Amino acid sequence: MSKFCIFCGNKPENKNKEHIIPQWLSKHTNRFHKVCEFGESVTTAKIPFSALTFPACTKCNDTFGKLEAAVKPILLDLMDSKPLDATQISLLLDWFDKIRVGLWLSELTLSKKVDKIDPKFHINDRLGQKDRVLIIERLQDVGEGLAFVGTNSPLFVEMPSAFALIINDFVFVNASEYGLVSNKLGFPQFRKMQFTTDRNAQILDIGMGRHKTTHPVVSDYNASPTRTLIYQPMFRGVPEYAASKEFTTPYVLNHSLNYDTGTGGIFIQRGDNQIKYLDADKKISLAPRSQHSDRVYQIIQEVFKLQNHILSSRVDIDSGTKLQSAFWRNMIGQNNMLIAAYQKTLARQK
Ligand SMILES: [Zn+2]
Repeated sequence: MSKFCIFCGNKPENKNKEHIIPQWLSKHTNRFHKVCEFGESVTTAKIPFSALTFPACTKCNDTFGKLEAAVKPILLDLMDSKPLDATQISLLLDWFDKIRVGLWLSELTLSKKVDKIDPKFHINDRLGQKDRVLIIERLQDVGEGLAFVGTNSPLFVEMPSAFALIINDFVFVNASEYGLVSNKLGFPQFRKMQFTTDRNAQILDIGMGRHKTTHPVVSDYNASPTRTLIYQPMFRGVPEYAASKEFTTPYVLNHSLNYDTGTGGIFIQRGDNQIKYLDADKKISLAPRSQHSDRVYQIIQEVFKLQNHILSSRVDIDSGTKLQSAFWRNMIGQNNMLIAAYQKTLARQK
């Protein structure tokens, strides 16, 4: 595959192999030797989970091995309806960052786009930098299984903002971007990012927060008994946040898991639309009530919709040149085509 370490992006020292989808998980779901589905963009790739690996430095691999070891019991407890605390949920969100960026780097490499887009953000640079969302749903009567969704869209390849991971009967939709939830959770307001002449450049423009929560937090994701919504504002990726008046407020300090590392607190919506801040000493069960397995086709469409929503709500796509604007509009159009294709699949199922 590629020549860089998936974690630090440098030439791997004492080269090692990292499984993008951890071995314990593909073994747990009985998928280790089975081929993983990448979707339409790389139809030629027939790779079993066991071979979906990236080079990594031994040192980096050891560091991330600790995250993996810590998250395994957390994820298993979650799926066993056992309660988790805010620190455990934050670690779980770190893990989803790791998987999402890992799958993005795989997609870039497998679709041979790695030369076109400089993957300047490796897992180290992406972990815990931006606001995060985790949406948990559960399906009835599905057996063992492991799949990922949404990583094959041209938009995800440009901007790895949202994907879904299906583990047995659980579906996890994970998303991350600057200001994705901060604005609605009372944290400092992130205005839409503007383009510069370098199309990947982002200008962060931040204003004072409203110091209260507002529903809905993310587009049209309402709370329901069959859905758990988890939000975490993150400001680790904001340069010099500790010196800014927007961040040094009692509200931000009182709703942060670790202010010094730019780690916001955990907010949860379950059952009703009330947004609850999870106090550090409290535990909560995240497993929602299960629903008909056909729902999975809608969830897949919602992942592509969410990618479109994140782009258009967080980035001012008309702030650059006409060419830039056309480029991003085309990405949205291609996602709409994927949504329509899944809509047809859904119609056929009925
Ligand atoms: Zn490394």
